[in-house]
Amino acid sequence: MKIKKFGLIGLIICIVIGIIFFFPQNNQKETKKIKKEKNIISYEHSENKERYQTYQKEHPNLSKKEVITLVNMNRDFDFYGKIIKQEHPNDLNTIVNKYYQLDENYEPNDLVDINTNAGTYGKPYSKHTARKVVYDDFQALKQACLNKGFELYVSSGYRSTTWQKEIYNHMVETYSVERADETCSRPGHSEHTTGLGLDIALDQYKYEEVENHPQYQWFLSQLSNYGFILRYPKDKENLTGYSYEAWHIRYVGKELAQKIEKSGLTFDEYYARHF
Ligand SMILES: [Zn+2]
Repeated sequence: MKIKKFGLIGLIICIVIGIIFFFPQNNQKETKKIKKEKNIISYEHSENKERYQTYQKEHPNLSKKEVITLVNMNRDFDFYGKIIKQEHPNDLNTIVNKYYQLDENYEPNDLVDINTNAGTYGKPYSKHTARKVVYDDFQALKQACLNKGFELYVSSGYRSTTWQKEIYNHMVETYSVERADETCSRPGHSEHTTGLGLDIALDQYKYEEVENHPQYQWFLSQLSNYGFILRYPKDKENLTGYSYEAWHIRYVGKELAQKIEKSGLTFDEYYARHF
């Protein structure tokens, strides 16, 4: 009788445990599935409907997903063909590109010196700033590089809109608008003005040759662990608006950096789908 009773109690316990553990997991899976399905269409904006249709007609080989992403990115307009004011310049996920422009007077209010330890090759790199929010993770990345036997420097950090204007105008005067647009941003459109974009150098390898550093691939593989992404990857000019820049990294925070890396998308595409 006792055995029977315990057997019954045991059975009830098993059922209860089953309900507790099995069903919520199933529910979670179900919710995830629904979310995933929702996610596919979640970046389709009704106000862009006509633009999607027009762009799809013009590009019949593109999938619906690609069309929606590209139109959300405003790629149905030429670069600088549609200017949108960036209303959230202080957000970690803020985007500044050839469509999104910072206010002329925008300046981060938390800029700090970023190259605090000049190191062996650091002399030309001493005076650069970035937003404070970047500082700790950048120092941790720098330390990880040091542990691996090489030094990381910032060769260009924050640049004001006025400074960017000088650079851009100089390029236009020396060459042409086309040439200037190929190599530098128009004022207000530079990621350096957010204080979150950095050009880097490794040891004696200056920014333009940084890719040749023997540890460059390792360095790239570490970026997202410290909240950075490579902002202008190879063969993505049509999406980012910029030629490949092995040296330009952007801070977005660890969580977002890892999500972007996992997606395999450029930040511009990711932004068009998720923000
Ligand atoms: Zn740069």
